[in-house]
Amino acid sequence: MQKIKKGDLVQVISGNEVGLRGEVDRVLKGRLIDRHNKHIGRDANKDKLLVKGVNVRKKHQRPISQTRTQTGIIDKELPVHISNVMLVCPSCDEAVRVGFRVEGDKKVRFCKRCNATVDKV
Ligand SMILES: [Zn+2]
Repeated sequence: MQKIKKGDLVQVISGNEVGLRGEVDRVLKGRLIDRHNKHIGRDANKDKLLVKGVNVRKKHQRPISQTRTQTGIIDKELPVHISNVMLVCPSCDEAVRVGFRVEGDKKVRFCKRCNATVDKV
């Protein structure tokens, strides 16, 4: 189970945007590859996240086709590595470490600071 999911609020903990918060827009799953570059599995430690408003770069986009509607200078989020952000706990509003526990018959995430369940049961 992933520590951070789409829709979570996260806070940047390293780099030049420390303290900035944003909602996870997309999780880019890390791939485990062998030395021949063959995809052999999933590596959660290599996950990257697209976070709204975090690591935004200006991108110059020219119209290349009629289907591309956004042109000119647009803002584009670049992926941030999962280890550079921490989940913001909905109940104590701090960047926290999460743990996993079973509630009912579901595995849920909980805040290691205030012990509140992060996921809805
Ligand atoms: Zn908490």
